[in-house]
Amino acid sequence: MFIYVIGVLMTTASFAQVQTVVDSATANAVIEKCTQSNPKFYREYQYIKTHDTLIKRFIFFRSATQNMGPAFANPNGTIRIDLRYLETAVPDFDDNRLIVVLYHEIGHLHYFATTLPVNRNPADSEKAAFEYSLLKTKEIAENGDCLPLRTGLKFMKLRSESDNLADAHVRALKRMVNEPLYFEYLKYVEENCGK
Ligand SMILES: [Zn+2]
Repeated sequence: MFIYVIGVLMTTASFAQVQTVVDSATANAVIEKCTQSNPKFYREYQYIKTHDTLIKRFIFFRSATQNMGPAFANPNGTIRIDLRYLETAVPDFDDNRLIVVLYHEIGHLHYFATTLPVNRNPADSEKAAFEYSLLKTKEIAENGDCLPLRTGLKFMKLRSESDNLADAHVRALKRMVNEPLYFEYLKYVEENCGK
């Protein structure tokens, strides 16, 4: 079973790289520590894992390097998270950013749920995921915490400036940051979030 899981992870990875699945006791211990280190992530994670029916399962793994990204969503409802982002401080991935990542992955599940396989493409999927993360972090802003939304907008803009067009995230963001929806979020922050 363990070898089977690794095999699936390797074939679904964008390039071959071993991801070691972490047992649930180890993962749970790291997540419990997030009550101190990443309390917002902890709160959102605990809430959505029981409230979003599209999420079937979380799998925690450790990758050999951090170049692959912190998390992945699969059309079968599985979200995989690199535990290393939760157990040590990773530059540019603070508590606010981790929330954006979490909702980004859930956004993929919503895209998969609403888009037939024949109509799916990577850039549209990324765009839907980014937009979902903005939608959810705006809800958090409406409850008084603007930082996740602000952080999401900042990193989306930064990443949109990349010239790596092979990356579907970059292609999605180049479209997104020039659309009215993105400007509406910027305007919301400007009018409601202070300096
Ligand atoms: Zn994505």
